[in-house]
This record gives sequence, C-alpha cells and structure tokens, in this order.
Amino acid sequence: MLYDLVACPHRLHMDTFADSSERDAVSPFVQLLWKKGALHESQVMAGFERPFTDLSGYRGDEHERKTSEAMRRGDALIYAGHIRAGELLGVPDLLRREGGGYIAGDIKSGAGAEGSEGSEGLKKLKKRYAVQLALYTDILERTGVSAARKGFIWDIHGNEVDYDLARPRSASHPRTLWEEYEAVLSQARAILSGRRATRAAYASICKLCHWRSACLKQLEDDDDLTLIPELGRAKRDAMIESVPTVEALAKADVADFGDGDGGKTIFPGIGPDTLAKFAERAGLLSASPAARPYLKEPLELPVAPVELFFDIEVDPMRDHAMPCETWPDIPAQSNAGMGARALDWLWFASLWAGVYDRQHG
Ligand code: SF4
Repeated sequence: MLYDLVACPHRLHMDTFADSSERDAVSPFVQLLWKKGALHESQVMAGFERPFTDLSGYRGDEHERKTSEAMRRGDALIYAGHIRAGELLGVPDLLRREGGGYIAGDIKSGAGAEGSEGSEGLKKLKKRYAVQLALYTDILERTGVSAARKGFIWDIHGNEVDYDLARPRSASHPRTLWEEYEAVLSQARAILSGRRATRAAYASICKLCHWRSACLKQLEDDDDLTLIPELGRAKRDAMIESVPTVEALAKADVADFGDGDGGKTIFPGIGPDTLAKFAERAGLLSASPAARPYLKEPLELPVAPVELFFDIEVDPMRDHAMPCETWPDIPAQSNAGMGARALDWLWFASLWAGVYDRQHG
C-alpha cells in the first residue's frame, strides 16, 4: 500500500473507495513484470548457499505465527515472513538476524539505487524501496525485535544495497529516509480516514495502473492540466488556483503570470520558458483534432550520398539497447518532382511500417 502511495496518492484513495467494477484488467506488461520479479526471487533463493527458513508456503495467521516462532528461535535468515504490529502489516522477503535482533530486506528485479554517487558520495536511494523497508523496520521496532533502523536490497545485479534509514535519500533531499517514511505513513492514514482528498494526475505510472481508464475519463472531463505532457502533479497543484484547466491555460496570456522582473513566474518551480511551452501545448490540445506538429525554428536536414537508418530496440528488463535493423545505400538525391528529401522520408516511413507490421501484426 505505501509502495503504491509513493508513486501516486490517488491510487490509495481509488483502491479503498472507488467502485471496483471500474478497475481495468491487469495489463499483460504488468503481469510480465510480476512474473519476472517472482522468477528472479525464486532464482536468487534457489542459488543461496547457506541454510535459511522458508516460510513461503504459509498463509494467514499461521504465516504470522511461524514468523514469530522463527525469530524467537533466532533463525539466521527467514525468507517470506509475515510481520504485524497493530494496523501495520509487512511481508518482507528477508529477515536477517544481526546481533540480538533482525533487519529486513527485499529482493528486487531492478537496480537497488538510482544513478551514480553524487558529489557528496551519496548514492540516490529509491524512496519506494526505503518506505517499504522502513515499514518493516517500524514493525520490528514496535514488536521489540529490531536490530537497527536500517534495511537492505538484494538487487538485479547481485549487489546488496544498504538502506540506512537515518540518512537522507540523496544530497539534494535533506530529509532522512525515516522522516520520508513517517510523512508517507501519516499521508496514508489521512487518505484512509477521509481527512485528505486526492486527485488523479496523469503520469507515466498511470500506464501500469488498473485505474487508468477511470482516472483518464475523470481527467478529460475535468480538462485537467496534467493532460499536458511534462506537466505533472506538483506543477498542476502549483498552478490550479490561477489556471484550472487546459483550456484556461490555452486562452491565458502567460505574461500575466510573471513575477514582475521577468525572471520567474508566480508558480514555484515553473520558469517563464516552461510556462510558455505548456501554454503552446495547451493550445494544441484545445485545438484537437486540428492540432499539428510545428517547428520552433527552421530545420535543415543534412543531405548525404548514403544514409543509414537504425532501429534501436530496447529491452527495459535487461538494461541494454541494441541496433537491430539497418538499411544501407538509400539513394538520398535520386528523385525529382516532389523533392528528394520528401521521397526519402516516404521510403523510410514505408520501411518502418513493414517492420512495425512484422513486430506487432
Ligand atoms: S491511473 Fe494514475 S492517477 Fe489514477 S490512480 Fe492510477 S496512477 Fe494514480
């Protein structure tokens, strides 16, 4: 629950209060992600060379009881336990004994942290992972078996990434991971009790969400600003009192939102150029279906005697890309009448259409 909340607060509201008949079926891509995650986890544990307590076969109260018994015995590593403290429930992949207590870990089929170390030597830890590990740690603390306020991730690269919950997520995020967790937990409580209202916001994560159709309909009915590419929840929330809809932004004179000296707008985190770009996009969306791509400046495509076109294929599951198909020797200047460049591009488009049909037909 907290894991989803980090990506979208509205998801928790929808999962709790929305009409379940409006849920979309789980997409094949999400099913593939689940399958890949489960396969990775089972491969990791199958290859683990030291003995561990496997509780993956238990469910419900018995599952919780077996986990407590294993921790009371002091088992060194517990796989797929089930822990609880009051309203807090956790299903950590791993519980590892350290000193007189336990720390929790998860097995992930992705990288354990984002990017490389910053100038201050801090790797950017993932907030979703941190919140999950902090929840397990909170439960361990409340039940008196926590060894320390930290957790770990066994990631897709075979690395163990430490999540020291007392440190900030990155140099640019001064709040500690534990403070981030506490904020998310209190947000969850406010949403579940109805004290906090949420709103859909269109983002890339929506493509993986089972409320996509319901939220998209609501967003379109509301003519919501997040329908504008790159204008996300935070920017929408900063603008909404002055500019409530896409149409309002399309009709607005963005100069009215300047702060007076021309360097900023009245919307925190949105500069004048970005606001102008969003207004252009709002105009295109409002003009639909008459909207057309437009050039922001003159474009001169270089002409070469031979042109190569690469089809870059990316497998998002494996962190690599490769050029798969090329067409050498396309005569770039062999046509007359409608223009050589136009004919080249038509030829290129027809080749791509053939590739698309082969791959998706
Ligand atoms: S579709 Fe998007 S906005 Fe709606 S709940 Fe899912 S992630 Fe949130």
